[in-house]
Amino acid sequence: MKTQIVVVGGGAGGLELVRRLGAKFGREKYDIILVERNPTHIWKPLLHEVAAGSLDANLDEVGYRSHGHRWGYRFFYGSLEAIDRTKRQVVIAPMFDENGQEVIAQHRIRYDYLVLAFGAVSNDFGTPGVKENCLFLEDRTQADRFRTKLLNNCLRVSRTLSVDSTSDAMVNIAIVGGGATGVELAAELYNSAAALRHYGLEVFDESRLKVTLIEAGPRILPALPEKLAASAQAELEALGVDVRTNTQVTRADAGALVMRSGESVKADLMLWAAGVRGAKIQGGLDGLEMTPNNQIKVRDTLQTTLDDRIFAIGDCCNCIIAETGKPVPPRAQSAAQMSKTAFHNIVSLIAKKPLEAFVYRDRGSLISLSRFSTVGSLMGNLVGGRMAIEGYFARIAYISLYRMHLIGIHGWIKGLILILIGHVNQVVRPKLKLH
Ligand SMILES: Cc1cc2nc3c(=O)[nH]c(=O)nc-3n(C[C@H](O)[C@H](O)[C@H](O)COP(=O)(O)OP(=O)(O)OC[C@H]3O[C@@H](n4cnc5c(N)ncnc54)[C@H](O)[C@@H]3O)c2cc1C
Repeated sequence: MKTQIVVVGGGAGGLELVRRLGAKFGREKYDIILVERNPTHIWKPLLHEVAAGSLDANLDEVGYRSHGHRWGYRFFYGSLEAIDRTKRQVVIAPMFDENGQEVIAQHRIRYDYLVLAFGAVSNDFGTPGVKENCLFLEDRTQADRFRTKLLNNCLRVSRTLSVDSTSDAMVNIAIVGGGATGVELAAELYNSAAALRHYGLEVFDESRLKVTLIEAGPRILPALPEKLAASAQAELEALGVDVRTNTQVTRADAGALVMRSGESVKADLMLWAAGVRGAKIQGGLDGLEMTPNNQIKVRDTLQTTLDDRIFAIGDCCNCIIAETGKPVPPRAQSAAQMSKTAFHNIVSLIAKKPLEAFVYRDRGSLISLSRFSTVGSLMGNLVGGRMAIEGYFARIAYISLYRMHLIGIHGWIKGLILILIGHVNQVVRPKLKLH
């Protein structure tokens, strides 16, 4: 019987890992299996551009089946429902079509080694009405839904203005959470609104867009040095964003967010991006140790605390950095770094060699304010300490994060070809996805 290595979740960490495992082990003695609930992969940090329409996800997404064929792993389309550690099996939920007809019945997949890499979900902190009335930005479907609603609202306002040019009609958008997602989306929306007039909405422009960015903490971008966060806030305010810090949302109604002060912010679209927590797996993880935030506790080898054969990487795990006692932050760079250590340790475990400890290397944080600016800090080996960067250099560093991911999942040759194609697309394709 072949040794089966099952990876659940083909995101920033999982997809890089299956590529490495497939390339190393091939199909003869080993069976590398990716279980993923979506048929295609899109790198999560691009989702705000998909939501704003400035990126066509069809051009950047990766089909798991063809990727698996190329790199020597098998793709199982389905959602993890539970794990059975005694039998060493993962339970995959039944899949239904849009009419409720069962397409694939619940089934089990055997594993010798299992890697959990299923990411995180938005944390609404139990705030009433958020689930029902706010949009989220967790996957492509949600980003597409945001874009459709955005375009419909722009169309509505444009139509009103063409009938009555004195109308004060606006598109009002409220974003909760002043972290990277909220800040990047706010800037990207102004970029898209400015471009719409070239695509048939002649009477619409960015002056008809009102974005309110609401943050409970004292400042936006807490992961960045204060000076850079202030610089980003000034940039957003220059675009027209109403940035409200020290403001806590206590309820979301249909069409309005209610603050602790009692004040409410009316909005046509409300997006919740105020933090993440581990996703709940319906049937549980068979007693694996979890944090109160629902993340899987791992040792420094990235093995789960209670089971040597099960690893967890990326946003779904809680890995404590020895020097600081703090958890590794939920970032794409963390997931990519963990996928390298998990790969090394699975190979070592099979070869009965000692495992290595995961060492998190903080490369800094970069925030793209669309075409308007990029701010961030680079750290560690790259610059020998923390260095604040802004403008062109920061933009290049930001773009290179995605390029490294492309090389991580496609290898050098195809990765570089895709980077080149990306440049060509920027020239020949429309600046906005309008459908
Ligand atoms: C809008 C946005 C912008 C961001 N910007 C940045 C940034 O600029 N820089 C940065 O470092 N980080 C950024 N992040 C965070 C970064 O995207 C995540 O930290 C990173 O993607 C985590 O990687 P992961 O592999 O752990 O999980 P993910 O990339 O989220 O992948 C998880 C995968 O598991 C699949 N899955 C989930 N549940 C199941 C299940 N039950 N069964 C099967 N499959 C399942 C999902 O479909 C997904 O494909 C951003 C995130 C968002 C949402």
